[in-house]
Amino acid sequence: MNWSSILEHQALWHPETAEQFRLSQEEAVELYTNAPLHQLMSAAHLRRNAIHGSSKVSYLIDRNINYTNVCTINCQFCSFYRPPGHEETYTQTTDQISERIDALEEIEGVRILMQGGVNPDLPFEWYEKLIRELRTRHPSIALDCFSPIEIEGIAEVSELSTLEVLQRLQKAGIHGLPGGGAEMLVDDVRKDVSPKKGAPDNWLRVMEEAQSLGLTTSATNVIGFGETLSQRVQHMSRIRDLQDSSLQQYSCGFTSFIAWPVQLEVNSFGRRNRGQNKIQLGSGSTEYLRHVAVSRLFLDSIPNIQSSWPTMGIKTAQMALFGGANDVGSTMMEENVVSASGTDKLSASEQELQDVILRAGFIPQRRDSDYVFLETPLKGTAPNDLQSPPPMQV
Ligand code: SF4
Repeated sequence: MNWSSILEHQALWHPETAEQFRLSQEEAVELYTNAPLHQLMSAAHLRRNAIHGSSKVSYLIDRNINYTNVCTINCQFCSFYRPPGHEETYTQTTDQISERIDALEEIEGVRILMQGGVNPDLPFEWYEKLIRELRTRHPSIALDCFSPIEIEGIAEVSELSTLEVLQRLQKAGIHGLPGGGAEMLVDDVRKDVSPKKGAPDNWLRVMEEAQSLGLTTSATNVIGFGETLSQRVQHMSRIRDLQDSSLQQYSCGFTSFIAWPVQLEVNSFGRRNRGQNKIQLGSGSTEYLRHVAVSRLFLDSIPNIQSSWPTMGIKTAQMALFGGANDVGSTMMEENVVSASGTDKLSASEQELQDVILRAGFIPQRRDSDYVFLETPLKGTAPNDLQSPPPMQV
């Protein structure tokens, strides 16, 4: 089928007969490659409206905390980590982390996303004690902590299985896992850019274990390593396969899918591209918008698709709301991992996020880590003619 017949068929999508409309990998690549951007975005927007209604865009008040920058994994695109023993290493204390959460509580935040490097010097008891203490001091904050590669690192240090680590951390008080570290779940790409992270299966296995315990998880995707469009769709396919299996077995799967392009300014991966054999790395706005739209259509069992303001900028993130995204992510308050490689906006206020949403003609909606809607005081502004935005129609 060519892109035009695929989109005609997708326009008939209905939740009760969704299985009939599931895109194959070949169809997704055809859309990615050949569908005109406005038609692709329009189809993704129609799907987003069918699932979420046409009026609201959600966001989360949260804080990123990067508790340690010590890491032994050495990903080529990472400018954040420092190897053990380096003079710029740090590991935050429980009090330092707790103070950051105090600041989050002051702005009515509801979740921390805490992740760092794979630090071989921290024993498992350090993590358990930290989480227990944070749970006691901040009972209303959801603790989404430690991405799959960190869970693997903790398992190695503690000589426990990753499932046992997750069970004990859940008992200590974690609510979920950040979706970081997936990047591109395709063997060849992963071997090239982060060989010490191991096979894509490892990330998927830890996420499945987390889902089997009912922990909240999200799926991420970094594009622009020089991979093919077919490999991008393979990544989505691995996520979709796990989602199907986890929903069936555990009634628990990824809440959302979040993609962004690799940042290239100050890391060894970016420097690779400065020689004579330049390949196209990273991603521009239109390519990113195509990716978001294809993900909305392909990932039919993942309800929420986020747009990424920290890497793409507010304007492109706003455009993505008309191409499949139903959520603008979160306030973050600080970000040290992706930003170390070249983004400069590390935080957004609630008012800024509401402005983005209102000015696109949608109603802002606070949510929690599980995408449950919360009461939302209006803080943002829109041009006068958009103060009472009409429902968006395709
Ligand atoms: S991306 Fe994460 S795992 Fe990779 S080097 Fe950086 S901190 Fe370590």
